[in-house]
Amino acid sequence: MIPAFRKRGVGSGEYIFPELRCFLGMVVALLFLLRPAVAEEAWQEVKGENFVVFYLEDAVFAQEVLTQAERYYQGIASDLGYSRYDNFWQWENRAKIYIYRNHEEFLKATGKKPWIHGTAFYNKREIVSYKWGQGFLDVLLPHELCHLIFRDFVGFKGEVPLWLDEGVAQWEEAGRRKWAIGTVKTLIEKKAYMPLGELMRIGSDSENDPVLSAKLYSQAATLVGFLMEKYGQSRFVSFCRELRDGKSVDEALAFVYTDSIPDTGSLEEKWLQHYGGA
Ligand SMILES: [Zn+2]
Repeated sequence: MIPAFRKRGVGSGEYIFPELRCFLGMVVALLFLLRPAVAEEAWQEVKGENFVVFYLEDAVFAQEVLTQAERYYQGIASDLGYSRYDNFWQWENRAKIYIYRNHEEFLKATGKKPWIHGTAFYNKREIVSYKWGQGFLDVLLPHELCHLIFRDFVGFKGEVPLWLDEGVAQWEEAGRRKWAIGTVKTLIEKKAYMPLGELMRIGSDSENDPVLSAKLYSQAATLVGFLMEKYGQSRFVSFCRELRDGKSVDEALAFVYTDSIPDTGSLEEKWLQHYGGA
């Protein structure tokens, strides 16, 4: 089960504990104004090649966050075939990571709901959370970084469906693929999966429903995985690029996967065959 909640929006994601799913909000500017509940001068910073980590205590943890962020950045960018962006997040364009001391302080600063444990502002290239150890390093950081890198590439103009945005981040998250594949196989076997046409339209408040969100996240991850593994990374990147440039999902499929997957109907069919063995 994945308790999750997410809204489409212009550029932020939130992490929800314990299963930690994203949330896109429309309140980026407001949240930005809310952030410095701590005096600016209290922040200390540690800088790397692509990131600046701001922290209030525990320089060792901050350094660990920085080290891991740099490592994930290289890995995710190259997995997504965006390696030409390797030198993009540098100097004044470095991504910023803010680490509050505890959950309470994070909530006070961001005005978030109690079940939110981290958030990302895509257009400002910022991740904001607090010091909660391995969960931050192993789950939130790679997931949100993936969103940031993906958003950098696809931008905000094109209509990128929720399943694609979330699917990419999930597929890149260590340990998530196995869960997604297992869940999807069961869904297909029980004929309980969400038809792709429905998945294309999903967004907003649908993730309040844990059953629905388990379908969304597992199907999203395996759709991305299927496209990447079966047809290759470079075609997947082209597909994303076409969406970025304004094509609809069907138009982008027809353009990039012309003979094999010309529309969402055939994508669903091939995906079912791949994971359901039908
Ligand atoms: Zn997410």
